[in-house]
Amino acid sequence: MKDFTLSAYERYLKEIKRSFSLVLRFDEFLQKQVPPQSFCIIRHDVDRRPGNALLMAEIEKRLAVRSTYYFRVKHHAFKPDIIRRISEMGHEVGYHYECLTDSRGDVRAALKDFEIKLLTLREIAPVNTISMHGSPLSRFDNRDLWRDGKNHDLLLQKHSILGEIYLDIDYSEIAYISDTGRNWSRERSNIRDRVESGLNPDFADGEGLLDYLKARPHPRIIMLFHPERWNERALDRGISYFFDLAVNSCKQLRNLALHTK
Ligand SMILES: [Zn+2]
Repeated sequence: MKDFTLSAYERYLKEIKRSFSLVLRFDEFLQKQVPPQSFCIIRHDVDRRPGNALLMAEIEKRLAVRSTYYFRVKHHAFKPDIIRRISEMGHEVGYHYECLTDSRGDVRAALKDFEIKLLTLREIAPVNTISMHGSPLSRFDNRDLWRDGKNHDLLLQKHSILGEIYLDIDYSEIAYISDTGRNWSRERSNIRDRVESGLNPDFADGEGLLDYLKARPHPRIIMLFHPERWNERALDRGISYFFDLAVNSCKQLRNLALHTK
């Protein structure tokens, strides 16, 4: 199987549907008082190429699966027509924020920027949950914006957000599977995209992931797919492969620099 293609994505979805009777959006999950015994949540961080997100959303719609799409509010990801269409298909739209890295650590400016961009996105679709953009090359971590309890209250109360999905979900009994770094291994290149989970499934390749979904998935899983990585055309796959390769090399260099300081 050629991985990181839309056909591979469809195969994963079919196995998810077979193995999980409950496929939730993050807003649905965060509204539950007690997490269900078994569920799968499918998350997409739309960093670039929103057209790919639309293609994935259409496949999900065809298979009657609903998922969550976190959009950056920046020119290359922010396409109102696409966001609206994805929302109208029954998927959740969330905000993929990067205010603290954009403001280079200035919390006050970041909060202002967050408010403006959240309003912009809410003009297009309801927004109830948020996820940070990893900004791998920045020394700032966007999640730090909410570490101060006052700011976190502001997020939940003033902005009526149900939760920041890295900070407000207990992952200890949730298996987290992410395509970050264009592989299915937690140890390779995933610097910020980590959660504190006791369950860490690792797969050598897409076939390994497919077998897992088919035969023995953990009862609670959250999966992250970046739409820009999933292309049907070989040329697009090539471009996206080299982009990931370059970013991974930068992350490794940065890691090396941090560890030798
Ligand atoms: Zn991102």
